[in-house]
Amino acid sequence: MQHGHKEGRKVLTEDKRQEKWSNGCKAIWTRILIRDVRPWVGRAHGQVDYYTTEFLPGHGIFDEYLCRIGKAEDANCRESGQGDTAEHAVFQRPRWPRERREMEEIVEKKTHNKKYRAGCPPK
Ligand SMILES: [Zn+2]
Repeated sequence: MQHGHKEGRKVLTEDKRQEKWSNGCKAIWTRILIRDVRPWVGRAHGQVDYYTTEFLPGHGIFDEYLCRIGKAEDANCRESGQGDTAEHAVFQRPRWPRERREMEEIVEKKTHNKKYRAGCPPK
């Protein structure tokens, strides 16, 4: 059936996407949160909101990116003076310690692995 053929192709594409995700060197830190992108693609539950789609590639609302494209004067975080990136906001910014602990607990439970690392060396 034509429909089945189409679905077969879709699975292959998703596996390729996963392979790129696992082996790529861009935004390595996001893989600490999302190890398998497949459930995110075409999932029926939950929502990927504006902030999620902005922070995953590190675009949009972060000053380091906005500064790079000429839309902000200062690339650094107003609190700590470090580069205002998505990674900084999620893992380092002092403003959200309670939220960060909650997130870490959820991620640890879901991954069963505190020491997960992506394949590429940290920058
Ligand atoms: Zn900061």
